[in-house]
Amino acid sequence: MSRFFSELYASAQPYTPGEQPRDRSYVKLNTNENPFPPSTEALSYTTVKTFLRPLNLYSDPESQELREALANSLGVAPENVLPGNGSDEILNFAFMAFCSPSRGVAFPDVTYGFYAVLAGLYGIDTKLVPLREDFSVGAEDYFGLGRTIFLANPNAPTGLALPAEEIGRVAGANPDNVVVVDEAYVDFGGESCVPLTQRYNNLLVVQTFSKSRSMAGARLGFAVGDAALIADLNRIKYAVNPYNVNSMTAAMGIATLNDPDYTLTNCAAIVTARLYLTSQLRARDFEVLESSANFVFAKSPDFGGEALYAGLKEKGVLVRHFAKPERIADYVRISVGTREQLDALLAAIDTLREELP
Ligand code: PMP
Repeated sequence: MSRFFSELYASAQPYTPGEQPRDRSYVKLNTNENPFPPSTEALSYTTVKTFLRPLNLYSDPESQELREALANSLGVAPENVLPGNGSDEILNFAFMAFCSPSRGVAFPDVTYGFYAVLAGLYGIDTKLVPLREDFSVGAEDYFGLGRTIFLANPNAPTGLALPAEEIGRVAGANPDNVVVVDEAYVDFGGESCVPLTQRYNNLLVVQTFSKSRSMAGARLGFAVGDAALIADLNRIKYAVNPYNVNSMTAAMGIATLNDPDYTLTNCAAIVTARLYLTSQLRARDFEVLESSANFVFAKSPDFGGEALYAGLKEKGVLVRHFAKPERIADYVRISVGTREQLDALLAAIDTLREELP
């Protein structure tokens, strides 16, 4: 930190993205990306050009066509939707809009690390709510906390999901606070709370194009909720980054929404691959949580989490290991790749086991 760095943010602990090493080629199962390319519609210049605003002009600050396409696909009105530069940007807007020195935040002790980063950045008082013994989120643990609540559903890195109705109970029990449901992984087997946003005006759903729609590099996410919540987020957006979604990404997003079968087919393939990976790991005596996401959270009987991560990396396979909290230190998070990638992972695990003394 230079001597010029603002004291406002000096205590911020930045997010550590999954590693992207370039020293050799890896089977990359560490950042929950989709192994399939974006929809051919999204990659077709002819298609995308029909939605593309000329690039000498600023992108549409309202992202109107994209908002309409999203609203159509979600069964809500355009004023219920706000697109962002990845869902991380939407989460940041939500922290800025709904958390403050007088309104703290609550989220699980084991969840997406970015919530703690944002809470630290803005100095928001944080209540970490422990996951239950089986790593599930207990809805009752969030009743009447008097705080803004962030819940990833399915949760990361566990992959466990709550039924939408349980999240609805949390929203119903906190009528004076916003409940943000981060549905980054919902398309792989979770149940979306989007329909519940019409019943609970304090429920904000956040989704992304990075996972099920294979567009992590294009950076596109969105929020869905009551028009008043969306207007609040817009207020922040116009104070931070008015042209937050670039024209190319917006056009690709519309093209992707026009090709829903492609997304559905890929999600189904990933679910099939996840079941395969889960059964293969269990056949090797791993403990594997029941995932509704495009990754599994698993514990080896033979290696600690750090050792398994390091051993696999040495064999050219990247997975993600979290040293903290201690409760999850024996686990690794493995993204569900193609069948070929998963077979390479399983072969590497078998070799590591054979090399054990
Ligand atoms: N929420 C969760 C739970 C995630 O795991 C991620 C991916 N790191 C995000 C949000 C952010 O995704 P993006 O900014 O790519 O939309």
